Amino acid sequence: MRLVPQLIVRIGADIRLAMILLFASLTVMSVIPFAIFRALQGDWIAATVDTLMVVTMVGNATFAWITGRTLLAGSVNAVMVSATCAVLGGVLGTSGLFWAYTVLVANFMLAPRWLALCCGLAIIGGGLLTAPFASAMSATAFVVSAALVMLYALIFASLTEYQRQRLVGLATRDPLTGVANRRSMEVELADVLRSHHDAGEPAAMAVIDLDHFKRVNDLHGHDAGDRVLQAFAPLVEHCIRKRDRLFRFGGEEFVLLFPATDRDGARAAVDKVQRELREHLVGPDGAVTVSIGVAMLAPGDDWPAWLARADQALYLAKRSGRDQVRFDDPVPPPGERRLQLVARLPTR
Ligand code: GH3
Ligand code: MG
Ligand code: MG
Repeated sequence: MRLVPQLIVRIGADIRLAMILLFASLTVMSVIPFAIFRALQGDWIAATVDTLMVVTMVGNATFAWITGRTLLAGSVNAVMVSATCAVLGGVLGTSGLFWAYTVLVANFMLAPRWLALCCGLAIIGGGLLTAPFASAMSATAFVVSAALVMLYALIFASLTEYQRQRLVGLATRDPLTGVANRRSMEVELADVLRSHHDAGEPAAMAVIDLDHFKRVNDLHGHDAGDRVLQAFAPLVEHCIRKRDRLFRFGGEEFVLLFPATDRDGARAAVDKVQRELREHLVGPDGAVTVSIGVAMLAPGDDWPAWLARADQALYLAKRSGRDQVRFDDPVPPPGERRLQLVARLPTR
């Protein structure tokens, strides 16, 4: 991928990387002229401090870009620039303290909040100790204004993080049942396929469909149906491993993904899920059963092909009378191919 499209994709996906690159560019543009000016004036200490700041920022940005470790790069960035800023009042006089405000804010976009707070306190403490304030009043004004800027930045960073997490939740979770949605499923299936291709790890997928679910809605209303779906998810999640993942594929159909699981393991896991649901999943008219189709990941599978085989097995479970588990048959009987599930929109 060429640099500009790659830049757009990566900074869109990682706000911290965007901030690191932005601050590095701004530092280069705004500090280099000062460094040159001070060097021309013979103020070598200030020129060196400015140059160090530029080198740190650019070095960190390069590290973050190459390794993707943006939290580490951002934290190093915040610590080093804050340390410089803490002594800037002593080097440049009180005019050096103006830079403190930009760094106090920037730290919250680069580092974890606790670290940004510590860096901020170090900047204020350093400024207070090293800058030649004309009076106690001006020192107090510096402390209070810097503390307020830090407080605003903290509130803003906390709100932004909260909203980001909510957005991620909305984009990746099904609102009715709280389980991961189809979009997350596609991402995680791609991960499992990658491990399969890289390390040959086996994996299994089960498609679970509630039996005669339409009747629940028709006889008792949509809300009663919703309550059954809400009860379904925790029952399944209760009896699977932490690594296994449940997704709502759409309507009353769910997908269970078992990474690093062979055929025997998948059989045991799916039987356990079915037992749990048989015992505890109830609707207004009593027990609600499920049909389950299972497919092992096969060499050369992409995820739609894998899902289609699990769906084929589900179809066989339905045709054989429902309330049962079927594994995918490598050679499906002719005429028993169902329209591929992947091509369908979720029903609701
Ligand atoms: P089968 O045993 O063959 O699966 O029969 P079924 O009735 O479960 O299957 P069908 O596909 O005919 O009906 C599925 C029903 O699921 C239809 C739809 O109203 C209902 N449904 C889908 N999404 C939701 C939902 O979010 N809430 C509720 N309450 N019902 C839903
Ligand atoms: Mg159904
Ligand atoms: Mg269905």
